[in-house]
Amino acid sequence: MRIKFLGTHNAESRSTRLVSFVIDEQLAIEAGSLTSELTFAEQTKIKWILISHGHYDHITTIPTLAFNNIKHLTRIYSTPGTLEVISGLIDGVVYPEFTSEDSYLGKATIELIPIEPYVTQLINGYEITAIPVNHPLHAVGFEIVSAEGSRLFYSGDTGCGLNKVWERVSPQILIIDVTFPNRFRNIAEDADHLCPEMLMEELISFKRIKGYFPKVITIHMSPQLEEEIAEEVAEVASKLEISITVSHEGQEINPWNNDPSKYNASIE
Ligand SMILES: [Zn+2]
Ligand SMILES: [Zn+2]
Repeated sequence: MRIKFLGTHNAESRSTRLVSFVIDEQLAIEAGSLTSELTFAEQTKIKWILISHGHYDHITTIPTLAFNNIKHLTRIYSTPGTLEVISGLIDGVVYPEFTSEDSYLGKATIELIPIEPYVTQLINGYEITAIPVNHPLHAVGFEIVSAEGSRLFYSGDTGCGLNKVWERVSPQILIIDVTFPNRFRNIAEDADHLCPEMLMEELISFKRIKGYFPKVITIHMSPQLEEEIAEEVAEVASKLEISITVSHEGQEINPWNNDPSKYNASIE
């Protein structure tokens, strides 16, 4: 699996984008920046989108992507509650009702597909399982396993206490929320996000349960606090003696080098 990060922040500006990344150019995870960061040609390759929860920073470019891609069907997967939030954006008033044959297009160009937590679905050759995490709106993370056996877990937005998640997943690469620096730990706890110190606690529980550390990539940073977060993430990496990368817009990685047994290849 090749991963391209389009947006890695929780706030949008000229230089920062909302969370989205794309696997193998065709499977999008979150829709914070699918139109702002992809060319029209690249957008047409996106046929499947996984959405973790209904907060606006994760769904904002669903209508704009739909508007640009009326020639084919785009399938969006999430829990029923999140799909209901998405329907509110493409309701025939704010944006055309792309899910309906009654829209001006005369056909549906978006299909909203409900997923049930813990039930693995095959989506274009990827085995995908939604796992509930600790964040409002019944947020889920996704374990994604490629046909070749590369394993990734994306936490989506989450707070601490992920023991039950670790019992369910076995990723080689973990893409995980780190929104705040340590001095805002109480805000992170209140808002159900992580800071580097909390990440370290979660990784220690991961190791205790799974017997190994995954390679870690952090995402969903507050842009104004980015330097502080990156320094504290580096401290966690050196304390645990593992690789932790802070993701950034435009970053492309191929951690498995197309071979799952080579997942130790460094992430740059
Ligand atoms: Zn959220
Ligand atoms: Zn968010």
